[in-house]
Amino acid sequence: MKKHNFYAGPSILSEYTIKNTAEAILNFADTGLSVLEVSHRSKEFQAVIDEASALVKEILDIPEGFSVLWLGGGASMQFCMIPYNFLNTKASYLDTGTWASNAIKEARLFGDVDVVASSKDANYTYIPKDWTVAKDSNYFHYTSNNTIYGTEMRFDPEVPVPMIADMSSDIFSRPVDFSKYIAVYAGAQKNLAPAGVTLVIVRDEALGHVERQIPTMLDYRTHVKKGSMFNTPPVLPIYSALMTLRYYKELGGLKELERRDLEKAALLYDAIDSSRMFRGTVTDTADRSIMNVCFVMTPEYTELEKSFVDFCAERGIVGIKGHRSVGGFRASLYNAMPIESVKVLVEAMKDFENKH
Ligand SMILES: *Cc1c(COP(=O)(O)O)cnc(C)c1O
Repeated sequence: MKKHNFYAGPSILSEYTIKNTAEAILNFADTGLSVLEVSHRSKEFQAVIDEASALVKEILDIPEGFSVLWLGGGASMQFCMIPYNFLNTKASYLDTGTWASNAIKEARLFGDVDVVASSKDANYTYIPKDWTVAKDSNYFHYTSNNTIYGTEMRFDPEVPVPMIADMSSDIFSRPVDFSKYIAVYAGAQKNLAPAGVTLVIVRDEALGHVERQIPTMLDYRTHVKKGSMFNTPPVLPIYSALMTLRYYKELGGLKELERRDLEKAALLYDAIDSSRMFRGTVTDTADRSIMNVCFVMTPEYTELEKSFVDFCAERGIVGIKGHRSVGGFRASLYNAMPIESVKVLVEAMKDFENKH
């Protein structure tokens, strides 16, 4: 049976990405070797990483002066690399969830951290609205999409200092004004590739301004200088990322990706809003994520949650159980998810509701 994959991460990849990755595992670029067993310094792999970096710049419309890096360690490693490289005295952070607060915890090891606002008081079910960033902060850090709670900031905030964003779960779903940023990073396993590589986009001239010593591997300048080849990069996920990027370009780039994402999310939110059995967990509809849709059953039906998951499984729907810290359901609608799968889920919700 065809599966409808709603997992939050690692998550669905395009068929194009998976098929071409499988092929390259057997025979990479007609070398007669697997992509798993070639030197990362071979000319064939150099072409892969060069094309992938160029496509990131093209699709996201990144201006001159930025470097695209492919690093190990996950987005979580960036929580420490960011302050290591950019925090001299003080940084401002917006606390919108578990990932944001993990980033805050690491930054505190390096200097003053001003948490401008937090929605922790309401289990992160909204994005704080009225806050200001101090002019003497080295940077402002925020998480654009809160994967666990289903909230999203689909805009570039207006602040008086350079910005840094964790875009792990919504990169390639909206245009970003890079002129406001010194760094953007994203673990690959949501909208790009299998786990194992993190995409980091850094502004070159923002590097080298902190007073501390930085260990070689944690210094962005090392990876800028060596083209992400100071050590062995995660070859396979980078190959898959290239396939996804080619697929994105072929589809029509960011405009088309965003159009599709908005359409899919509207379909599911409409179904939730018009149902008596389900309701969304995000309190302000303006904060709703188009990548991770979080919902629960209304109190009179709560005991049916488990049985709804089983009902969905019979229709090939997988990965809709909510994160353990939120409960209920979470349907992740990443770029690779076809609208047909969302329709299958909406059908299942309606049929289940009619049955009870
Ligand atoms: C998944 C996720 C992370 C953690 O990524 P790792 O690669 O597992 O470290 C961080 N931030 C956001 C927004 C995420 O969705």
